[in-house]
Amino acid sequence: MIKIKNLHKSFTKLEVLRGIDLEIKKGEVVAVIGPSGTGKSTLLRCINYLEVPDKGEIEIEDLKINTKNVTKEQIHRLRKVTSMVFQNYNLFKNKTAIQNIFEPLIVVKKMDYKKAEKIALDILEKVGLLDKKDIYPSKLSGGQQQRIGIGRAMAVSPKIMLFDEPTSALDPELVGEVLDVIRGLAKNHTTMIIVTHEMRFAKEVADRVIFMDGGNIVEQGSPDEIFNNPKNERTIEFLKQVK
Ligand code: ATP
Ligand code: MG
Repeated sequence: MIKIKNLHKSFTKLEVLRGIDLEIKKGEVVAVIGPSGTGKSTLLRCINYLEVPDKGEIEIEDLKINTKNVTKEQIHRLRKVTSMVFQNYNLFKNKTAIQNIFEPLIVVKKMDYKKAEKIALDILEKVGLLDKKDIYPSKLSGGQQQRIGIGRAMAVSPKIMLFDEPTSALDPELVGEVLDVIRGLAKNHTTMIIVTHEMRFAKEVADRVIFMDGGNIVEQGSPDEIFNNPKNERTIEFLKQVK
């Protein structure tokens, strides 16, 4: 179980998160939608302390963080149980596909090389890129790079995976292969928060859809509730624009 309580974040005078409360069940897939500049990325980044929240609590199973008195050890633990998939893949350019996947196992989890390699090979198979294992990112397509990015995030067996618009940098014909990998994760009940502008995908894959606007969660519900019967004026307006 994951609980975010009263999460706040400002950048100088700009209040970006205005008290986010969010509970996510184990195995739940949550899609976050909303206008640009609304704080969706900031929310994900605060959940794993890529940005330091100003106020609030983050609980991931037995790890309970209150931003008021957080320790380095807690942040280290938080980074072990969450993993992020970025819009622009963020792969190590000087490492091969397989090295990109086992790097966090060796660095974060201090696993020995043989064990890490075995896990990485297994993941490469899951993301359909076993034949590319020794290739450097520059020789991979965007879709392949993102599948490696997802593989790297899977490697540490996180309690929650955070996706920040994982397909928005891709050419349209490469989106499908990345969404397929995420579909596979959803089928296996991986707990995920997916920030996405792919409304059709959100509808299909999410158990719950959250609409954010102006640093708040404005409305949330099942995909059917949000997409077919939105209640809030701002949700209705936003969906009109993206349809
Ligand atoms: P998009 O859909 O365009 O990705 P978003 O909902 O993910 O938008 P955020 O990236 O969370 O929005 O940004 C929210 C606001 O915070 C924006 O106004 C942005 O300019 C600002 N912001 C984000 N990161 C920083 C930062 N490191 N320093 C200053 N301002 C920031
Ligand atoms: Mg964003």
